[in-house]
Amino acid sequence: MTAQLIDGNALSRQLRTEVAQRAAALKTRGTTPGLAVVLVGDNPASQVYVRNKVKACEDSGLHSVLEKYDADMSEAALLARVEALNNDPAIHGILVQLPLPAHIDAQKVIEAISPAKDVDGFHIASAGALMTGMPGFWPCTPYGCMKMLESIGYDLRGKHAVVIGRSNIVGKPMALMLLQKDATVTICHSRTADLKAQTLQADVIVAAVGKRNVLTADMVKPGAVVLDVGMNRNDEGKLCGDVDFEGVKSVAGWITPVPGGVGPMTITMLLVNTLEAAERAAGA
Ligand code: NAP
Repeated sequence: MTAQLIDGNALSRQLRTEVAQRAAALKTRGTTPGLAVVLVGDNPASQVYVRNKVKACEDSGLHSVLEKYDADMSEAALLARVEALNNDPAIHGILVQLPLPAHIDAQKVIEAISPAKDVDGFHIASAGALMTGMPGFWPCTPYGCMKMLESIGYDLRGKHAVVIGRSNIVGKPMALMLLQKDATVTICHSRTADLKAQTLQADVIVAAVGKRNVLTADMVKPGAVVLDVGMNRNDEGKLCGDVDFEGVKSVAGWITPVPGGVGPMTITMLLVNTLEAAERAAGA
């Protein structure tokens, strides 16, 4: 069998059109959704990410502010900027680009963001809301994965989902979101004794590791849905995921490509979260 592709670019275009329409509607009522992106230092990958986020805002009619600071900015100065943005009524979402320089406690900075503006969904209040099923902002990457499953009409009830990776920003929230939709969830990580034994039982596999070829065709049940979160480089320096795409696509039922899969969905869900933050602030 050849897997059907879940096209993250196409789904993103559709969702961003909806965001633009809702943003325009909110604007007519006096609120322009606004995102502040804060970058400290000159990490080249981070610079690309923040540029893409700001451009995506502009394309969807959201107001965005990019604040760039030198790598030697003090933690106190950054906390003061976050506090100012918390109090800025034109800003509905605050994103502090990670990683931060080593002298800054990233968790402390994240906790300084008002939960009402935590559009990255990394604040402990957001994590707690996800865990307890209360309203809050979901981390963008796993949220994007959920939207991809929704886009193919996949009913997770009673299905077995295996998440490979247990980070706070992808693996763990992914598992909680799948659980919330009544999947039976297994979380695997670097100490999992027999990864293949787990993945072979899965109806849905989410690979969020950061290593090429973590998932190969012999590890996938025929017809399974495979979502590839990983971002790696192959021997030619090209972007690739965690999944051996060519091999796995001959076994899986559905698969996301890299690039053009989960990546664009992450930024799209940031726009969705920012719009929702603005709608909540406006009482819409
Ligand atoms: P991370 O914090 O490094 O976590 C990686 C996880 O993979 C850890 O839980 C680790 O287990 C597990 N792991 C490592 N080797 C393993 C193995 N051989 N078998 C099974 N599990 C293994 O990374 P992350 O931030 O979650 O990101 C994961 C990947 O997604 C990266 O490639 C990142 O670039 C990508 N990413 C993509 C997007 C996007 O928009 N597409 C967004 C975020 C991240 P331990 O906990 O035991 O160490």
